[in-house]
Amino acid sequence: MKALNNRKRAMNETLSLLAGRVLDGQRLDRAEIDTLLKESERDCDDLLYWANKIRQRVFGNKIKVCSIVPGRLGGCDQDCAFCSQSVRYDTPVEKRARLLSDEEILAAASAAAENGVANFGIVYSGRTITEAELERIERLVRQIVAEYGLSVCVSLGIITTAQAERLAGAGVSRYNHNLETSERHFGNVVTTHKYADRVKTIEAAKEAGLGICAGGIFGIGETEADRVDMALELRRLGVDTVPLNFLHPIEGTPLGGARTLKPMQILRIIAIFRFIMPKVNLKIAGGRVLNLRDLQSWMFYAGATSILSGNYLTTAGRAVAEDMQMLADLGLEVERQIHNIKV
Ligand code: SF4
Repeated sequence: MKALNNRKRAMNETLSLLAGRVLDGQRLDRAEIDTLLKESERDCDDLLYWANKIRQRVFGNKIKVCSIVPGRLGGCDQDCAFCSQSVRYDTPVEKRARLLSDEEILAAASAAAENGVANFGIVYSGRTITEAELERIERLVRQIVAEYGLSVCVSLGIITTAQAERLAGAGVSRYNHNLETSERHFGNVVTTHKYADRVKTIEAAKEAGLGICAGGIFGIGETEADRVDMALELRRLGVDTVPLNFLHPIEGTPLGGARTLKPMQILRIIAIFRFIMPKVNLKIAGGRVLNLRDLQSWMFYAGATSILSGNYLTTAGRAVAEDMQMLADLGLEVERQIHNIKV
């Protein structure tokens, strides 16, 4: 017992030291990150404690809330093994792509504004977009910014710098394009496009001056090393928002039978990402409700600073009002961002 307590005290001192270095602006190296990994999910209270301290020091009590709308749903010819929108898998999502009308997208933007959600995302399924689709998005974004003052993010697959520049010109704040996992594991879950395509799109969006929302999905057969590699690549790319998704297995996809991660495993992942990227906005997105269950409010004490609220693309989330109540109960404040300006 005494030896155990001594070990725990020594580890807590190490974590405090590492948190201090992070807060001094130093980047943790691989060996230091490996030290964090020694904290198992069964005994990671000190890791969560220090991750929370980092969050509080960098972000105060501010939390960002985002909502998304699937502008185009399903009908995707790609083969991401976790995704129900691929036509290659027999899933509840229809094989024919469903395009939301302008009215439906504008109604979702209006609802987001009414609910106090300042960040609104339009997500298209598929590898990329056509010229006609790009023109439509430009028009809709201009309208949403003008009418609702929302900060608009878009997720349209693989794009070029020229396309990204047009999106920036239309008023898009941020481009979402996830790495999903490490380069090493990527080929095990996606074969129809390459990891390098994803990196290139992130670089193109960054070059165009867009903010970058890029993260990944966990529980897809990746190792701990894959998670750390993805975090280090995101840190190298200089992204500003990192969505963390946790597999919600959908019947019919290759990962439909995968075992979901436990809540404490998820909290530990969030905390490790907070240590690796202290200043990025860590957004807990898909799979939050299913996987964290009663421990949802703990995500902030593990270092999360943002949530995707309302429904996800193909699965139900939580009502925005319920999430807003959770934030109020925790004494956390929703950060308002009106079209690129923090207020
Ligand atoms: S994640 Fe995107 S690219 Fe991959 S199958 Fe789903 S919709 Fe298509």
